[in-house]
Amino acid sequence: MFLNQEPRLAEFAGAVVEWQKRHGRHHLPWQGTRDAYRIWLSEIMLQQTQVATVVGYYERFLSRFPDIPALARASQDEVMPYWAGLGYYARARNLHRCAQELAAHWDGRFPDTPEQIATLPGIGRSTAAAIAAFAYGTRSPIMDGNVKRVFTRYFGIYGVSSQRATEQLLWKTAEEAVQAAPAALDMAAYTQGLMDLGSDCCTRGRPDCARCPLQAGCYAYAHGVQHELPTPKQKKASPERECKMLILHQEGSVLHQAGSILLEQQLSPGIWGGLWSLPQYGDASALEVACSNWGQPSNQAQKMAGLLHTFTHFKLHIEPWYVQCAATVVAEPGPRQAWVPVEKLASTALPAPVRKILGGLFDL
Ligand code: SF4
Repeated sequence: MFLNQEPRLAEFAGAVVEWQKRHGRHHLPWQGTRDAYRIWLSEIMLQQTQVATVVGYYERFLSRFPDIPALARASQDEVMPYWAGLGYYARARNLHRCAQELAAHWDGRFPDTPEQIATLPGIGRSTAAAIAAFAYGTRSPIMDGNVKRVFTRYFGIYGVSSQRATEQLLWKTAEEAVQAAPAALDMAAYTQGLMDLGSDCCTRGRPDCARCPLQAGCYAYAHGVQHELPTPKQKKASPERECKMLILHQEGSVLHQAGSILLEQQLSPGIWGGLWSLPQYGDASALEVACSNWGQPSNQAQKMAGLLHTFTHFKLHIEPWYVQCAATVVAEPGPRQAWVPVEKLASTALPAPVRKILGGLFDL
């Protein structure tokens, strides 16, 4: 840990702001607004997801839910298709809950302080500070994954950032960097600059120190330890699970010529809570029972190419099985199940791997 931080603190924020104004990003769809709703939506979508992926989702979401009251009025089932494919679906469920809470208790508007914002569902301290900085210019520091990387390298902070002591030191240093900055600090440019530096310049694998405005005071650069910081977490091997998915395709009818697929809505909370997945089975005998319940001998099921989907905490091997049944087979779907016409699959809230599997069979 580098002890004499004072000169580093004094010059830090000014260098970030100056660089952001010249070289940072200025034309993203959620920039140039002080609308806390739009800022909040972008911040939540950008957690765990790349900017390039977020842009399209952000615009589609806003055109359907242009403000807090519109989102609060919608049902969760109406919201989920606009998040399907982005992953980490708890974000969408919390977004919806938060809009309802804002409508019910905050007159449909965001509160003014980061502390109040951080009491809302799905909003942590860093996101609350980012919303307040962009919407109100509040002098409150952020500390997301990209920013942690910049701080650990620049200030020479060792220790796994998820450990309490390291996290506290990072937040303390972030607060001191804001306090040491001039009173006229442009908080929106500073906050955006930290995000841009972390994603464009001080990247995980290849920090571009030659282009970095912080190079002169950077501990990691001076000591050649960019690749030691942030201190890596000990990696645990991800557990692996497997499942069989049944693609039960009911042949076309006059109404739905391409036929329908049996889908099952996933319970909330849960990894895919609120989304519509293909029915899943743990082993071949469970799949066989399911096929026979639909009057289909399992030996008529065709095995399709499997796929591996990686979640944060485990990997899922998916083995899809395709079975076609006649339009005359009329059986009541089970609880939370529904026949979804093929032409409606594209607008249904499907998890990404299910969309991929069905996209291999139909034009989604
Ligand atoms: S000089 Fe290099 S390591 Fe230091 S903050 Fe800049 S990009 Fe990161």
